[in-house]
Amino acid sequence: MPTIKINKNNLFDNLNIIKNKVKHSNKIAVVLKDNAYGHGILEMASLTSEFGIKKAVVRNMDEALQIKNYFDEILILAQTDFEQLNTSYSHAFHIVLNSLEHIEKLPKNIKVHIKVNTGMNRNGICQDSLEVAISGLLKKNIQICGIMTHYKNADTVSCDYYVQKQHFYNIKDKVIKLCEKLSQPQPIFHSCNSAGLFRCENFDEDLARIGIAMYGYLDNDDVLDFPKLKPVLSLWANRISTRYLNKNESVGYGGTYKTDKKIIISTYDVGYGNGFLRINENQEFFTKDGYRILGRVSMDNLSLNTDKDEVCIFDDVRSLAKLHNTISYEITTTLSPFIKKEII
Ligand SMILES: *Cc1c(COP(=O)(O)O)cnc(C)c1O
Repeated sequence: MPTIKINKNNLFDNLNIIKNKVKHSNKIAVVLKDNAYGHGILEMASLTSEFGIKKAVVRNMDEALQIKNYFDEILILAQTDFEQLNTSYSHAFHIVLNSLEHIEKLPKNIKVHIKVNTGMNRNGICQDSLEVAISGLLKKNIQICGIMTHYKNADTVSCDYYVQKQHFYNIKDKVIKLCEKLSQPQPIFHSCNSAGLFRCENFDEDLARIGIAMYGYLDNDDVLDFPKLKPVLSLWANRISTRYLNKNESVGYGGTYKTDKKIIISTYDVGYGNGFLRINENQEFFTKDGYRILGRVSMDNLSLNTDKDEVCIFDDVRSLAKLHNTISYEITTTLSPFIKKEII
């Protein structure tokens, strides 16, 4: 069986860099959505809580229920099953309001963060609807714990980030005044994901929602001065079988790899069925120790010119992301949740 190894030291180093930037671990909410970007939601919940993190962010209630015992607060980004919200809500859960229409569907007495659309045009209400949203929520005795937004372009050099940030400052002023008028407690304000945080000169918000940086990556334009982080996940595979191939023999589907001399070749137990996306004969990928993947990756196998019992397929996904013309997020998130995890 293949194994995902989680490097605890690297994770803690990344968390320390993030903590220094936000100034207090209470201002970090670790983003554990989608099986913690493929790292294993339970493993990452346990490690980050051991580090001292008290807040997490997930996609839905199913994920929140899995990690309930590790955190004081869990922000749920996109719960669309409102029935489940009625039956399984716990006060550690903070529900993101993504649309005005959802207010009537929300149960009474819950905790909500209002997402405001400041330019990404994905989820959230517009600034002009804030008053309506707040009064609608208060009518249902819903506690407005936070106001949040999300950047569309924090990882690229453009002014979009600053435009959205300014927009969010204006919203913050407006909400603070509104709360005074209504004699309501002031909610917290948060806008930053990983890239957003590291673009701040001085972070002055109440919370940062940190995903990819904790896992050791920041996909960004090279000109941005981001810290050196350490990838946390590595993928390992075990040898299934070994044979010698003579000159002019081939390996795998399509027989696309042809030997130019006698070589030893082994099959390892990882493939696209494990979420290690298919690599074909036109692509060149070398494992961590420099073995080229020979021929096409199959569903459960790939072939390498070695007979080592265990090989590290990668301990950094950046070259793989480049090869597949995607971002590091997609490479780790695609890994099958069934791959066993080992903390090292
Ligand atoms: C996924 C997500 C994050 C985390 O983003 P990273 O770039 O991985 O740090 C933060 N906020 C929201 C709303 C998200 O959906």
